[in-house]
Amino acid sequence: MKHLKERTAIFLLALSASLLLVSFVARISLSQSNSKAEGGAKVKRLLKPTGLSRDNSEANGTNSRGEAATLNGQLSSELNWMFGSKQQRGWYLYTPLIKRLINTSQDPASAKFATALSGWQAKSGLKSSGVLDEETLYTMIKTWQDARLKDRSVAVSDQLLTAPISDFYDSTRAEDLRQVERRTYAAYKQMVAAAVADQSLGLAHARGELAAGEKYLKIISAFRSPEYQERLRREAPTAGSAGLAVNSPHFTGRALDLYVGGEPVDTRDSNRALQVATPVYQWLVRNAERFGFRPYCYEPWHWEYVR
Ligand SMILES: [Zn+2]
Repeated sequence: MKHLKERTAIFLLALSASLLLVSFVARISLSQSNSKAEGGAKVKRLLKPTGLSRDNSEANGTNSRGEAATLNGQLSSELNWMFGSKQQRGWYLYTPLIKRLINTSQDPASAKFATALSGWQAKSGLKSSGVLDEETLYTMIKTWQDARLKDRSVAVSDQLLTAPISDFYDSTRAEDLRQVERRTYAAYKQMVAAAVADQSLGLAHARGELAAGEKYLKIISAFRSPEYQERLRREAPTAGSAGLAVNSPHFTGRALDLYVGGEPVDTRDSNRALQVATPVYQWLVRNAERFGFRPYCYEPWHWEYVR
């Protein structure tokens, strides 16, 4: 009898040990598959080695989101990257566009932003770390650039109309510099009417149009002929390739530079920081696409009609 009791005890001990082992292995593999799904080396580096407590996958997720949020707060002003040949620091100038792209209204230094970002990263074939690193930023820029005008052939005169001076930022702009591609102009007027109707923007208006004294959303520049563009390049040799490109979308009459605050067309970071913070720019980021306009991420004022 004693012998049987002993054997039962040993059997129960062995059974519970193997059950423990099974559940331990299951939890480890859950943890591993979770961290694999959450994306590779970057997340692993973010996670502090916490030994056995790591097997709580939910706490892990929260933890990595918190750390991703902290990292994003830093990277938004410190990430070193290149836009073409130009050295850049941080991605804070692109925050409104990024929020739109990943569909969140949350601050970049928040865990919810990191969660929204990891969803977008997964959809885009990136490691879903929730961290807006160099690779993620380049993928975002490619997404914005791919949505821009592809055909940049020079507009012929019957595609263009001359817009009234009241649409322009410079109230003395010459008639031959007020040409806009016809469909682009119609879409622009619809977009402006929608902005005017949005009381939160507080745009000065009369009969559904921007008032004479309102500068926001007025056209700074639209169609530019190759000859005129060449003249601008000669007059401002230091302006750089971005503003006065040889193959400019302004040749099509479908690119509009719109006033969004600050110095109208100045690419200095300090100026662009001011522009991307204006309610009008942020409204464009959220609404311009409905009217067929796509942004050029590097120049907050430059919008292209792509329909
Ligand atoms: Zn432009």
